[in-house]
Amino acid sequence: MRTHAVAIVGSGPSGFYAAGSLLDSTDPPVRVDMFDRLATPWGLVRAGVAPDHPKIKSVSGQYDKIAARPGFRFFGHVCLGEDVTASELLERYDAVIYAVGSQTERRLGIGGEDREGSHASVDFVGWYNGHPDYVGLAPDLGAERAVVIGAGNVALDVARMLLLPEEDLRPTDTADHAIEALAGSGVREVVVCGRRGPVQAAFTTTELRELDDIEGLAINVDPAQLPDAAGDEDLPKATRRNVELFRRWAEAGPAPDAGRAMEFRFLRSPVEILGEGEDGPVTGVELAVNRLETDDDGRVRPVDTGERETVECGLVLRAVGYRGVALPGVPFDEASGTIPHTEGRIEGREREYVVGWIKRGPTGIIGTNRKDANETVRALLADLASGAREDATIASAEEVEEWLSERCPELVDLDGWEAIDAHERAAGEGGGRPRVKVVDRSEFMSLVRERT
Ligand code: NAP
Repeated sequence: MRTHAVAIVGSGPSGFYAAGSLLDSTDPPVRVDMFDRLATPWGLVRAGVAPDHPKIKSVSGQYDKIAARPGFRFFGHVCLGEDVTASELLERYDAVIYAVGSQTERRLGIGGEDREGSHASVDFVGWYNGHPDYVGLAPDLGAERAVVIGAGNVALDVARMLLLPEEDLRPTDTADHAIEALAGSGVREVVVCGRRGPVQAAFTTTELRELDDIEGLAINVDPAQLPDAAGDEDLPKATRRNVELFRRWAEAGPAPDAGRAMEFRFLRSPVEILGEGEDGPVTGVELAVNRLETDDDGRVRPVDTGERETVECGLVLRAVGYRGVALPGVPFDEASGTIPHTEGRIEGREREYVVGWIKRGPTGIIGTNRKDANETVRALLADLASGAREDATIASAEEVEEWLSERCPELVDLDGWEAIDAHERAAGEGGGRPRVKVVDRSEFMSLVRERT
């Protein structure tokens, strides 16, 4: 049986798990070409996971192993829709998998959302992680108080990054421009607002617990916003642990001398981001005070009581979830921000598949993508095994490389990425950092060219 060729568009966790699973196949044997619009692979592991979580980032070691397997190639600086089209890929491969994640923010849809000083967490996270698209963000960190909207792990990441002591920040792979800005930041207090209660919050316990380890950080919670302790026993284990933590912090009371503080404010929805004039800089957030109501289907939803409160601040980070972006020439469901599919097979299409957040929406941890990718690869291999593609003519590995070199003058192959990686790691050694990130396209290209 001939070796089948699969293109994977996107090189984050779901793309790599799909690649690993495909390369395991011996009947038929499969080779994989992975594309990314950036020079660097690993998606959110490089550009999303908080830099003070090196253990989570170390999952990239698994991706290195997959990349080193025979039959795997990486092509960076290839943008679908700009450099190549979906149909051109389909002409050259037996199958194409889209693994592009959720590249934008979910909008709040309230007044003042786009004021100066109000940023989507997607942008802020990209900025501190050195994602080339966001290095120019330059958030103003001059104000003493920031407000984070949302009660999920991304909200926690951005709140923590704003409050991390400089000595905790310096040994990380935070982009240099962000280290300098955060080290000189005036932010001393971050108010994290959840529209529902601590029981419904999407934080995971491990992420909450680590707040206790941050030197000089007070955690403030108003005891009045916590549910009655008598109900704790009925809660699922993970939720109970979270609530117990909040209760402990609430009982400890405020620590005014701590220097820095993170406040969790529950049952609050933003109704307007306030500021100077029409679209001048942020001066505060108007919050609606909510109560909770349980729907017939058991979902607990926030209901506006009509009461309002204002939190003064100079920075707002909106962390209410990510959203997928339509790919040119690929079906897309606007309502869910995902590509419609059945078990990873894109609806109405042949030989096109989907994995990761663009398949199931922006939920779950990195490991969730393994099972997700396996499901898609099972469907793909079953389709190949059905023999429909047995006589197909596809481009050889060399033909693809030739075509890409013509299309993309700044193509980065696996050797190129390895040169970038080696350079970044070496640059980090002196400062005890995992790496010093390169964030500039021309610098990436110099490193790639130097190696040849
Ligand atoms: P998320 O977990 O879905 O949390 C989104 C939060 O935004 C929820 O609290 C949600 O509240 C709130 N929200 C949504 N719309 C809102 C609105 N209009 N007004 C106010 N609040 C609103 O999303 P995420 O934090 O972006 O994280 C994405 C995924 O990545 C999650 O699965 C997360 O666990 C994972 N992640 C993991 C880590 C880690 O393991 N360290 C780090 C970062 C991210 P409702 O619940 O009321 O809708």
